[in-house]
Amino acid sequence: MSRPVVQGPVGAAIALRGDASANALFDEWLGERRQPCSLFLDVDGTLLDIAESPDAVHVPRELRVALESLHRQLDGALALISGRPVDSLDRLFAPLRLPSCGGHGDHWRVNADEPLHREAAQFLPDPVRQRLQALACAHADILTEDKGSSFALHYRLAPAAGPLLESALRALLSEPGATGLRLLSGKMVFEVIAHSCDKAQAIRRFLEMPPFAGRRPLFIGDDVTDEPALAMMPALGGLALSVGRLLPGASASFANAASVRSALGRAAERRLQ
Ligand SMILES: [Mg+2]
Repeated sequence: MSRPVVQGPVGAAIALRGDASANALFDEWLGERRQPCSLFLDVDGTLLDIAESPDAVHVPRELRVALESLHRQLDGALALISGRPVDSLDRLFAPLRLPSCGGHGDHWRVNADEPLHREAAQFLPDPVRQRLQALACAHADILTEDKGSSFALHYRLAPAAGPLLESALRALLSEPGATGLRLLSGKMVFEVIAHSCDKAQAIRRFLEMPPFAGRRPLFIGDDVTDEPALAMMPALGGLALSVGRLLPGASASFANAASVRSALGRAAERRLQ
């Protein structure tokens, strides 16, 4: 297969489709040595294949090796940007510990060896949490995740329940006791969130601090919850790549998470030489 022509400066924001285009932009971005880059990676659907439940995902050993190598080669400027809590990321990738942001921007650590930071603890009110749990129980096969500052309802095992679940959640959030709460809609998941952060704000925070400051950011994400961060990249002089389909702001898309893992693996090996 011929390599696509990428015109203009490195990572020129040309909307392209297909693995070959995403790979070409990714390789060029990481290979540019004049100004080093930083790498921001969503996890579920981007690095890992989505499973029937959040706990059922598999982390291939090769992915762990590639992430560890690239984290070292980028002088620490590689971060996971996820909706999962950071302690869940740590369990998944153990013994690897990376700079991470969890809960869609709720808490983070810019360096792997520092404690977690949180801007202001914002938790879901207990009555809302109880209502959400009851709502999940009223439908068969809805899996829940209580993350403290947010509550996720996964309906991958009951896709037909999606529309009913969404209208019930919107009704709940319109009640006075739910003021300030937001509804995020992801792939087969609804999440009620108490804080106002998103992944774009999270990445901006990382870019203000070493080792991320002054580097050209690259963000890869697969879902609507990644769109604010993807859309922000061109304005920051960065590159956005999506997974599965071309999302707004992305210059190209990888076919799936396996394609992203392959690109990371190749980059880690290439830079080691
Ligand atoms: Mg994702």
